[in-house]
Amino acid sequence: MQQTYNPTWDLDVIFPGGSDSEAFRTYLKEIEKDKETFSAEVEAFTPEDGNVEAEQLIGVVNELESVMKKLREASAFISCLSAQDVTDEKASLLVGKRSELRAELDAIISKFVQKLVAIEDTTWITLLQYDGLTELSFVLNEYREQAKELLTVEQEVLINDLGVDGYHGWSQMYDTIVGKMTVEVEEDNKVKSLSVGQASNKLGHPDRKVRKAVFDKLGEAWKEQSALFGQTLNHLAGFRLQTYKHRNWNSVLKEPLAINRMKQETLDAMWTAISNNKKHFVKYLEKKADLLGLDKMSMYDIGAPLTNTVNKSSYTEASKFIVDHFGKFSPKMADFAQMAFDKRWIEAEDRAGKRPGGFCTSFPDSEQTRIFMTFSGTSSNIATLAHELGHAYHQHVMNDVNGLNQRYAMNVAETASTFAEMIVADASVKNAQNKEEKIGLLEDKIQRSVAFFMNIHARFIFENRFYEERKEGLVSVNRLNEIMVEAQKEAYQDALEEYDPNFWSSKLHFHITGVPFYNFPYTFGYLFSLGIYAAAKEQGENFEDAYIALLRDTGRMNVEDLAMKHMNVDLTKPDFWEAAIQLCVKDVEEFIELTQ
Ligand SMILES: [Zn+2]
Repeated sequence: MQQTYNPTWDLDVIFPGGSDSEAFRTYLKEIEKDKETFSAEVEAFTPEDGNVEAEQLIGVVNELESVMKKLREASAFISCLSAQDVTDEKASLLVGKRSELRAELDAIISKFVQKLVAIEDTTWITLLQYDGLTELSFVLNEYREQAKELLTVEQEVLINDLGVDGYHGWSQMYDTIVGKMTVEVEEDNKVKSLSVGQASNKLGHPDRKVRKAVFDKLGEAWKEQSALFGQTLNHLAGFRLQTYKHRNWNSVLKEPLAINRMKQETLDAMWTAISNNKKHFVKYLEKKADLLGLDKMSMYDIGAPLTNTVNKSSYTEASKFIVDHFGKFSPKMADFAQMAFDKRWIEAEDRAGKRPGGFCTSFPDSEQTRIFMTFSGTSSNIATLAHELGHAYHQHVMNDVNGLNQRYAMNVAETASTFAEMIVADASVKNAQNKEEKIGLLEDKIQRSVAFFMNIHARFIFENRFYEERKEGLVSVNRLNEIMVEAQKEAYQDALEEYDPNFWSSKLHFHITGVPFYNFPYTFGYLFSLGIYAAAKEQGENFEDAYIALLRDTGRMNVEDLAMKHMNVDLTKPDFWEAAIQLCVKDVEEFIELTQ
């Protein structure tokens, strides 16, 4: 008999009892205690008085690693609770508790890193030679250098403390409003009330009338809340800008570039190479419009399937397909995915009351991960599932790396995920049973390129312009709509007829306070992955270990060095990006040939 997989996750194995979990409350108390210990050690560490003992610094760093690991573990559990049931009020309270804990820990870390600045350069270099510190030198140097750009300890602590309610609170409010939103959609002559996530899944419907109707309904729903979302976005952006102003940071890109451990030249080289190649993707959009019998595509046509048969797979079928194809590139990755399905590390059930979107979160203390998404059987759902498993695998290969070296940035965080997604996408194209299926699957791949080169580019352009205008004062809802449409026109090179003015409110990423500019890292990860993917195809069996070595270094190098060490390429030059984009251009050429 064929085994079927349960599409709900098992959280009880980590902390039993959901948001009522006693074990979890005990764990939170442990974190509080560890935090106190760490705080006391930081207080006792006084390099400003002259003498610095390596042993003492090692002690502080070890305590930091331990408390951070536990807080990540607790954070992950809270994320899972609030995503699986948006009406779980106890989970919402825990989200608040998490913000408090994080802010408290950040405040102690701020104090600690400020103390590192007080250490003389020569002493610092000597300290980093000690066992227990050498392996952490990249991260410790980063702490110290970044601390030099901050305000005084007292001011940074105040910013952190006020941020709980004055900054992160806006993002929480956004989540709460979205979770309560419903969209009434007519289906089989019945009006159904759907979550925005469920409704968005219908934008891939073969019937244009259905897509348009859902798009309009979603548009109305977002518009109805736009005054609220205009507030959440303006206020969280205002908080961010005010902080930058006090720190004397002129560019809004300073922080996201530092977080992503990359240079402005690298970002510029990437977007330049993309812009130089947009014409190929415009050609694809024109061809698709033609195939759909339209003069021009609209935003809600981008996800339209080109064949009338909607190919649906069951969750079990999808899981087998993924494991099989991971195995062709990396047996270790396949084994890992198999285990994730077997042990129910994935929440994929299609039901109301779940947060929209997908994510993967790590429990570094129990060395586990959990994936969250809504699986309704489409090929894009399968891609998302593979994508999130890539994230999970990335964490998996890092489990035995020091916790402080596990913190990879968002741009490389998207590397393993996109790589996994690509394996599955390419496998699907190769396995196509006939021309029609091949066209459909090839198109799925091209759509990913369009998303990274156009949709994400629009988000990047929007955020840049919005933040510039926000510096001068509040930006009205009308103006937000305008900036969004302008950004989309530019990013899609006027290839569309109807754009999506509400995108600034419907896209969660603009409202995330944990990280600014959560857009270009996706595109970076995609193209960086393509480069690795090309190498994987060349290297065959040697690849698996080299890939693992690269992933394990992602938390302790900047991206330029990482690429140089493991791929021997210079990311600040357009050549690498150009070559990666050419792989995507080939897809377009093949697509146009097949549809002639
Ligand atoms: Zn991802």
